[in-house]
Amino acid sequence: MGSINIVEERPLPLKLHFLPYPAPGHMIPLCDIATLFASRGQHVTIITTPSNAQILHHHKSNHSHNLHIHTINFPSQEVGLPDGIENLSAVNDLANTYRLHRATMLLQRPVQHFMERDPPDCIIADFFYPWMDDLANKLRVPRFAFNGFSLFAVCAMESFHSHSAIHGLPHSITLNATPPKVLTDLMEPLLEVEVKSHGLIVNNFAELDGEEYIQHYEKTTGHKAWHLGPASLVNRRTEREKAERGQKSSVVSMHECLSCWLDSKEPNSVLYICFGSLCHFSDKQLFEMACGIEASGHGFIWVVPEKKGKEDESDEEKEKWLPKGFEERNKMKGMIIRGWAPQVLILDHPAIGAFLTHCGWNSTVEAVSAGVPMITWPVHDEQFYNEKLITEVRGIGVEVGAEEWTLIGYVERKKLVKRKRIERAVRRLMDGGIEAEQIRKRAQELGKKAREAVQRGGSSNTNFEALIDELKQLRDFKSHD
Ligand code: UDP
Repeated sequence: MGSINIVEERPLPLKLHFLPYPAPGHMIPLCDIATLFASRGQHVTIITTPSNAQILHHHKSNHSHNLHIHTINFPSQEVGLPDGIENLSAVNDLANTYRLHRATMLLQRPVQHFMERDPPDCIIADFFYPWMDDLANKLRVPRFAFNGFSLFAVCAMESFHSHSAIHGLPHSITLNATPPKVLTDLMEPLLEVEVKSHGLIVNNFAELDGEEYIQHYEKTTGHKAWHLGPASLVNRRTEREKAERGQKSSVVSMHECLSCWLDSKEPNSVLYICFGSLCHFSDKQLFEMACGIEASGHGFIWVVPEKKGKEDESDEEKEKWLPKGFEERNKMKGMIIRGWAPQVLILDHPAIGAFLTHCGWNSTVEAVSAGVPMITWPVHDEQFYNEKLITEVRGIGVEVGAEEWTLIGYVERKKLVKRKRIERAVRRLMDGGIEAEQIRKRAQELGKKAREAVQRGGSSNTNFEALIDELKQLRDFKSHD
């Protein structure tokens, strides 16, 4: 009996285990992709820890029979973290970041125990778990890696660590800052283990990275990349589910008031400002930002950390980061959101005209999906690479002029981005004019391509079908070898 017949006779669902890294920028897209597999009838288990499992309730609600969440205890005590602190977004200092990362390394044993009892057909794990390579080999199960980056950024990183500068990419790229050595030292071994995996799952669509980067990656690494995104578009979701993406609790009332407020604004008239889940700015920098936004004269939604502007914050505390009378003067024009914002919903609203972003990859691809042009203000991780994809390669944004690259978002930066630069960048995109119109048009065209990519016959959808076929072949080949 040939193997092709075997495939046809066994339409058994695949058994897939996903292991996301506990940071919103990694968990949100990988769990969206896991949900996509479950929605197509595959048996999916997401392995996570109790506190992180609470964020995943809406993934579970739609596909409960195919999607299981397996929780393992988070080793808080072993590393000296308080109970319940299980996600990078919950820490804001280096010592606790290291503790949290160390705790995730200790997950190896319980994960191994769980998988050995009942091995899956395939493991899809974040590249921050390099020990997954040994485990997958031991179980003789294919492993796919996920790192939450664009392939463009991976190509740039690979190039940087071979040459200490970016060379040999399809475009000539000059970065606005140099990556900290501690970051390149951290990435290098992780990328080396990543290419030993069966393939790389990318939260992007082929048209945004571009065929030239896909070919470059495959040629220089010999490794295959699977573009399955944008993750925020691959599952059909209600407004409520979109509003709750990445959240522990419902924010529906906030979402309703936001929608009403946005509905009252002209198309493309509101600037959305958010720096992801891990980035913190000094009071001085927030103050400059407030002055720049106000001077631009445009409407805005500004997401600030939860502790800012709370009722118990004294006037003296508040005036360190917000100019006196700012809220009163901008009552009609602007809105400050303290804490977690329903980002995908906001970006999708026609009133949003531009996004001032730290260029985290999820934020970037979400803005592209919504056809919203960006003002780039990279801060940490691979964001300075993403900036170049946005501005120089795809021409869908303008730079604010950030020049200081830190390992992590809460490290205080010495160089302030001054209010004049912020005002100028906002005006460049929001005041109108030929340049702004061209940028907006390109952003809208790419947005259309993003939505097409996940439709039947689109590039990501086709990749997804091909990946399922490949995984089934690997499974059936294994069961007969
Ligand atoms: N996000 C959100 N509301 C917020 C902040 C962030 O929904 O107030 C989501 C955002 O939509 C994205 C993710 O959190 O999906 C942040 O990932 P990104 O890669 O942009 O940045 P990171 O947080 O990893 O720096």
